[in-house]
Amino acid sequence: MSYRQSHDRSITEPSAFWAEQAGRVAWYRAPQDTLQALPDGSHRWFADGRLNTCYLALDRQIELGRGNQTALIYDSPVTSTQQRFSYLELRDEVARLAGALRALGVEKGDGVIIYMPMVPQAAMAMLACARLGAVHSVVFGGFAPHELALRIDDARPKLVLTASCGLEFERVIEYKPLVDKALELASHQPAHVLVLQRPQAMAELKAGRDLDWRETLVHAQPADPVEVASGDPLYIMYTSGTTGKPKGIVRDNGGHAVALSYALPTIFGLQPGDVWWGVSDVGWVVGHSLIVYGPLMNGCTTVFYEGKPVRTPDAGSYWRVIEEHKVNSLFCAPTAIRAIRKEDPQGELLKRYDLSSLRHLFLAGEKLDSTTQHWLEELTDKPVHDHWWQTETGWPVTAPCTGLGDHDLRGGSTNRAVPGYHVQVVDDEGRLLGPNEQGSIVIALPLPPGCAQTLWNDHARYLQAYLKTYPGYYHTGDGGYVDEEGFVYIMGRTDDVINVSGHRLSTGEMEELLALHEAVAECAVIAVQDDLKGHVPLGLVVLKDGAQATEANLQRELVALVRERIGALACFQRAVVLKRLPKTRSGKILRAVLRKIADGESYAPPSTIDDPAILGEIAERLGQAGLAKAG
Ligand code: AMP
Repeated sequence: MSYRQSHDRSITEPSAFWAEQAGRVAWYRAPQDTLQALPDGSHRWFADGRLNTCYLALDRQIELGRGNQTALIYDSPVTSTQQRFSYLELRDEVARLAGALRALGVEKGDGVIIYMPMVPQAAMAMLACARLGAVHSVVFGGFAPHELALRIDDARPKLVLTASCGLEFERVIEYKPLVDKALELASHQPAHVLVLQRPQAMAELKAGRDLDWRETLVHAQPADPVEVASGDPLYIMYTSGTTGKPKGIVRDNGGHAVALSYALPTIFGLQPGDVWWGVSDVGWVVGHSLIVYGPLMNGCTTVFYEGKPVRTPDAGSYWRVIEEHKVNSLFCAPTAIRAIRKEDPQGELLKRYDLSSLRHLFLAGEKLDSTTQHWLEELTDKPVHDHWWQTETGWPVTAPCTGLGDHDLRGGSTNRAVPGYHVQVVDDEGRLLGPNEQGSIVIALPLPPGCAQTLWNDHARYLQAYLKTYPGYYHTGDGGYVDEEGFVYIMGRTDDVINVSGHRLSTGEMEELLALHEAVAECAVIAVQDDLKGHVPLGLVVLKDGAQATEANLQRELVALVRERIGALACFQRAVVLKRLPKTRSGKILRAVLRKIADGESYAPPSTIDDPAILGEIAERLGQAGLAKAG
């Protein structure tokens, strides 16, 4: 079936479409009841199906003859280590770890928090929980104790799994003291903390509570996969909401297995035996769908990278990994490519490597500006695909379906809705808008399998945040439009859309323009309050290394550029040069905080911020420029 036929069928006959796709999964009991609509608007997929996700990712692949194929390649420039695990080896490690967890009291339905760096044991921990039907929640290793404590109190884990340290450039980050502190702050206490000791910083173990990972495994008996119901939770992934309390996105087992068994071949064009590299961290949704579960459930080899795009040791590290492991396709965030481009603008390092194994590059997580996209396309001579999804959906909403021969791509667009997703645009009153009309992007219910249908311990919040705003639709929180051919254009979170004298404008669009300037490495456009116009845009730019432009000249040129391309109505009159932009650890620019600083409002550094010190610097800089009202 072509992309168009598949998409049409998935929307007009969702039950029949997904009942067919469910055939991709080796269930213990195949579901007969494909789709249930609940009165509150949420849905249940494959309610009577029974399966085990770890079995699908490992044992099933071995049954299909892939036992000796490499399942996971650990590539760690920060420790100068590489290690390969075949499907057999990985299954045995995971089965033993699952046995050890069971001996410590973990059973089906129990919670386990995983707070670990990008070491293969982190993937093993996730898979071991899945094997027992336990519910893991991976907390990104960089989160501070307060954030970890919030998650511990919400997930109420029986165990916490951690490592003594993580490594960043030349810095050793001790994890264990952070876990200790989090447990002091949390009211819930796990029975044990299992600690993987790394030689770079050995942790002190508290007698009785803390256990050494390797010693615990010595006597462990391997555990077999435990059958679970389709709707049983596989994991919780906490993500930021509009309040300080993170949202616990719940992923079910059955819908997730079907969605990823469909998505990897259909969107990413992956086949068993292909080498896939999801460049992210197990602490994010990509680490779940595209580093661990997706590639393994589809018989691929997954690259597990403990390093950065630059400085481990240089801006050529991505290209080195691609050549060395013959990577066929990869996922990364645009911010990583911008970091590489900043340090290696001419691609001198890239040219040293053989990228002939590579078929596609997939970018998502934030707006992909055309400058970055073209730079990457020209240097690699490979297709660079933008695609769009969220922690909540767990897999792409819009993307090119390369596996269906869908090569009809549109620059600037995150491409068309993937089969299963009926993407539409509504205005503030919930009225459907026509082609090219900008509004809130929504997805008509039902959401396809794999998407979150509830929040951990808080179904009411799920309904409130996602289903109540526009009845009959899932509210994505993103603004944008869809053109007459179905290509979707994401212009940013709805709160990044600004209103200047009643004209609706996209800060994303302006950022795209500023990024065209040869001196600009990266930028953010935020709305600042204006007594007359409501809001006006402000450009915050970081210069490329060695760029000569003065701030006054640059501002003049950028103002002219926006005026020329968007028009005087944009009221873009100010651009300020900053040394750095504040970002989350996953690379998203923290525009909301920038807005608050510029408007002189009080702000608290968000928990996800990479480097909180930067905010003071920026406030001072904007104060000097006469912008941050409170200085
Ligand atoms: P997260 O749940 O942290 O992955 O964030 C999801 C949000 O990131 C989306 O709602 C979008 O605002 C943004 N996002 C993800 N992918 C893209 C993309 N390709 N283009 C623009 N924004 C994106």
